[in-house]
Amino acid sequence: MNKAIDHLEGLYRDFFAKMEQGFCILDLIFDRDGKPVDYRFLAANPAFKDQSGLSYPVGKTIKELVPNIEEKWVERYGHIALSGESMQFIEGSEALGRWFEVSAYRLGDEDSRKVALIFTDITMRKKQESELWQLKDQLSNIVDNAGSGLMLFDSKGHVLQANHLAAMYQGYQSREELLNISMIQNSRRFYEKFDVLDENGEPFNPDDSPVKRAFFGEENPQVTIIQIDRTTGKKRWFLARSRRIEVTPDDIQILFIINDISLQKKHQQVEASLLATENRFRHMADNISQLAWMTDEKGSIFWYNERWFSYTGTTLDEMKGWGWTKVHHPDHVNRVVKKINRCFAEGRNWEDTFPLRSRNGEYRWFLSRAVVIRNVRGEITNWFGTNTDITDQLQASEKLSYQKGLLEAQHKTSPMGILVVDPDQRILMYNQRFEEIHRLDGTVDLVGKHESLLRELTRRLFKDRSRPESTLEKIYSTRAQSHDKMYFKDGRIIEWFGAPVLGEKGEYFGYAFSYIDVTEQENLLRQKDEFLAVASHELKTPVTSILAYTQLLQRQFENSDDLLTYQMLTKINQQINRLTVLINDLLDATKIEQGKLSLRKEEFDFNEMVQEMVEEVQRISSSHKISIRSEENRSVFADRDRLGQVVINFLTNAIKYSPQADRVDVAIEYMPDKVRLSVTDYGMGLSEKDAQMVFERFFRVEGKDRETFSGLGLGLFISSEIVQRHGGKIGVDSTFGEGSCFYFLLPLG
Ligand code: ADP
Repeated sequence: MNKAIDHLEGLYRDFFAKMEQGFCILDLIFDRDGKPVDYRFLAANPAFKDQSGLSYPVGKTIKELVPNIEEKWVERYGHIALSGESMQFIEGSEALGRWFEVSAYRLGDEDSRKVALIFTDITMRKKQESELWQLKDQLSNIVDNAGSGLMLFDSKGHVLQANHLAAMYQGYQSREELLNISMIQNSRRFYEKFDVLDENGEPFNPDDSPVKRAFFGEENPQVTIIQIDRTTGKKRWFLARSRRIEVTPDDIQILFIINDISLQKKHQQVEASLLATENRFRHMADNISQLAWMTDEKGSIFWYNERWFSYTGTTLDEMKGWGWTKVHHPDHVNRVVKKINRCFAEGRNWEDTFPLRSRNGEYRWFLSRAVVIRNVRGEITNWFGTNTDITDQLQASEKLSYQKGLLEAQHKTSPMGILVVDPDQRILMYNQRFEEIHRLDGTVDLVGKHESLLRELTRRLFKDRSRPESTLEKIYSTRAQSHDKMYFKDGRIIEWFGAPVLGEKGEYFGYAFSYIDVTEQENLLRQKDEFLAVASHELKTPVTSILAYTQLLQRQFENSDDLLTYQMLTKINQQINRLTVLINDLLDATKIEQGKLSLRKEEFDFNEMVQEMVEEVQRISSSHKISIRSEENRSVFADRDRLGQVVINFLTNAIKYSPQADRVDVAIEYMPDKVRLSVTDYGMGLSEKDAQMVFERFFRVEGKDRETFSGLGLGLFISSEIVQRHGGKIGVDSTFGEGSCFYFLLPLG
């Protein structure tokens, strides 16, 4: 039995003697209060010295060996001796200058004060470790400064290390808050604080986190995420990566690197929007009607728009740099190149006009401009140029200048005075004849002045001062055609015509007047009137006496057998009557002209008067049956003879101008304050134009079928004057070829 024990002891001793770790047995020493105060080494193996640095310890206490040994050793082993609890721990001793990894346990039963230690000097390892940490710290400093967040997870997923940026990026106040927490805690806090989206804006799946993926064996997982702070709403882009670090095959650490890439993203977005702007610009430039191009800072063209190529029929390769000279006209190219080079050299904007050859060989004229484009530092980066086709404009302006010349020539040679005003009545132009008419001596320039100034200047020349002014105001406001005469104090009579100047689409550009001196014609007319007045007056006396004698003779032959003489006398009488009517008409017209037509008003029966006139006309014309329609009978206060004259004029005209018809209808209609007399025939009628003119002096409708009708064109003129003098209204309703209805309205009472 003893042998066996001896053998076993021998084995142990051998084992302890050969093992690399230090081994020793301690006897704990307590004070009276049962507090451990020291311990004595009872046994130690050969490795003890190497591992602890202490020689020959057996029999000595630790405090004898190392007087300044830390109390923590004595306390910890005392505790083991008393409690029997085994312990594994790593602990350093400054007194010994070493770090130890220790396994300690009590030897024997409760009363035993003996503790066995197996220990390894791990100072080197510790040092390496701390150097590693230092290195990592330095590294993380660098990374901090470089803008990366850094975290190191141990194999169990605890945070071993984290730098400041990592803490900040994940919403912690300081990096200490991060240390030693677990990956699960970390991720819970993280997702509470942020809304996390993937690159495409979709919610980010936490299982895709690079840390997790690295734990599951992926070497270098990485993701781009968008973090939106739930409280501030602030949005940031991060690139998150993990590295799997194999410390030993069993010990895996995960390095987690986070980079804020918001700025790059922003740049990317700006770049994208720049690109979009450029695309938009190109699209626009391709679609403008001009040719467009861009040069580099030296003036060499690197881009043309689509229009350039479609107009010239060239390619970019042909045109690049100075290739554009190929489409220039040989007569102009040198001048153009010289000028543009000067602008390029001086950094000035450029403008020129020259022909460019189109794809089908035709040359068209272009107005070309280039503007300098500078960067923020004011350096020239490009020229942007356009060419605008102005061929049509050039032709149009040539045409315009030709037309202008023509107009000027017309104005100069025109026997008429001409004046044109703009819509604001400012004088645009007038000709020499206009100046002569208005006695302007040519020293005042009225162009651009208001037309009223002209009136001011010429006012003294006119006989009737008010007339031109009021008519002018009306003309400007209505913009209608107008026509009138001006009477000058010096006797001249100027007839003028006015018409609006209208554009193709009816735009109002102003008003034009032309002036003709009609003094001579007017004088001739006056002379003619005077002659007629004298002639008719002088004719009237002999005709009246002839009429008296023939009537006398007629009465004598009335009852004789000389029927032939009687008939001839009747014919003479009829002709003299016609002559009397003509002379009377001429006299009346002259009276009207001279304003001498007077009325002798009396109270009379209107129907009776009309009846009388109808009977008189009916007596001499058997071809037509004249009927009268009237419902009432009233008396009027008017000139009976003159109104009778009007009725007779209506009736004789009605018969005269309806040779194919056989009746004429007369109607008298009474209204509360007026009476209307109308004479309707079924004859040739009047065109609308002629109907407007029939009341004018000497107006007679012209035409082949009209030639046979004799007359002076005075009857209706006189009638109209008579009716107007009574305050009445004269008029005609007529349908050409169907008949006319002449009427007048006479106020009652
Ligand atoms: P005239 O002496 O020529 O008849 P008036 O002044 O009476 O002169 O008439 C002027 C013109 O009006 C005539 O020449 C005629 O052409 C036209 N006229 C007048 N009455 C009628 C009518 N009832 N039907 C058609 N034309 C008429």
